[in-house]
Amino acid sequence: MSFTRQQGTLHAENCSLEQIAQQFSTPLYVYSKAALTQHYLDMHQAFEFIDHQICFAVKSNSNLAVLNVLAKLGAGFDIVTGGELARVLAADGDPAKIVFSGLGKTEADIEKALQVGIACFNVESHAELDRIQNVAARLNTQAPISLRVNPDVDAKTHPYISTGLKENKFGIPSDSVFSTYQYAATLPNLNIVGIDCHIGSQLTETKPFVDALARVELMIAELKQLGITIQHIDIGGGLGVVYKDETPPSAVEYANAMRPQLEKLGLKVYMEPGRSISANAGVLLTKVDLLKPTNHRNFAIVDAAMNDLIRPSLYDAWMDIVPVKPHQDLETKQWDIVGAICETGDFLGKDRELSLQQNDILAVLGAGAYGFVMSSNYNSRGRAAEVMVDGDQVYLIRDRETIESLWANEHLLPQEA
Ligand SMILES: *Cc1c(COP(=O)(O)O)cnc(C)c1O
Repeated sequence: MSFTRQQGTLHAENCSLEQIAQQFSTPLYVYSKAALTQHYLDMHQAFEFIDHQICFAVKSNSNLAVLNVLAKLGAGFDIVTGGELARVLAADGDPAKIVFSGLGKTEADIEKALQVGIACFNVESHAELDRIQNVAARLNTQAPISLRVNPDVDAKTHPYISTGLKENKFGIPSDSVFSTYQYAATLPNLNIVGIDCHIGSQLTETKPFVDALARVELMIAELKQLGITIQHIDIGGGLGVVYKDETPPSAVEYANAMRPQLEKLGLKVYMEPGRSISANAGVLLTKVDLLKPTNHRNFAIVDAAMNDLIRPSLYDAWMDIVPVKPHQDLETKQWDIVGAICETGDFLGKDRELSLQQNDILAVLGAGAYGFVMSSNYNSRGRAAEVMVDGDQVYLIRDRETIESLWANEHLLPQEA
């Protein structure tokens, strides 16, 4: 593991998180290059039995250094906007290994993606097929497409991160998959290459993946009868991680659960993992700023807040919060770890049994996915800095935002003389 205690102090690889907090200040995101690498390779090796391409879900962590580490290992990328496409290119990612997901691709995004030659557009509607057809025709090129089908299976995860039910906004509903493929086949500048399915995030069992794959398998067989053959299947992302006491499948268990079906299909396999690669490759360091014990609850006000890490507020996500250097002889209490933002929903954790003093450094674990990327400037707070550890070296990979930068793009009305 890349985050371990050495003489009691939490380290990222060989670097003390206490020293890192001192050097770079807090709040601070700290990523481990070794952890990112390990998680990627675990997945890669688990799918060794078949021709495959891992496309890291950029939305889970889009820092250029993170993307570049993965690109060098051979990763492709799953993007959802033109902004993410530009980031991947800036991080030296291979455009030929990019799949473009998302249900609202703009004409400009599609044009750029066609120009750089991405692997595939994962299409979610009729209207989007028309739009891609139009742009491809204008550029006099062929667009590789796959349909994101909605298999209508329950991912058994939080409703906000469940995407594979028919009431969700994602994917082509199973009852119109064939007509949509047939329609796509009539569009001259579209090249049907695959089928795609992503049913949700933080899945902790293999069954929903296997069920979804079974549905897709049937669809592929029926498509063949309609004369539509495809070259790849994209199994999406969604593999869960440990935040508390979950027991998600390992990469090998995940791969092996689908192995018989995938081998039978014999198609190239794309996958779009985000969280399972980045979540436990990062922590958020925060300093205890003030302690506010009351007769009802004890509040520890820390220098990170919901603008830095919104998962607890948005999804009621439980994230472990641990002292970087625990006290030896200080009584523990139940603390609510809260930010200084003017919202009751601004907390990182509640009822945590901790012994705390002002200026202690805490680490929020599992913060490498959907952490910094979802941060904002609410309450005019500059966003946190990000660093990456590699062995005994620490590199600054994103500067802390200055306050002046927050209004650098704002303008006053013309002033009266
Ligand atoms: C969010 C998302 C992913 C990544 O999900 P994880 O749970 O982070 O693995 C992959 N594909 C699509 C289409 C997504 O929307």
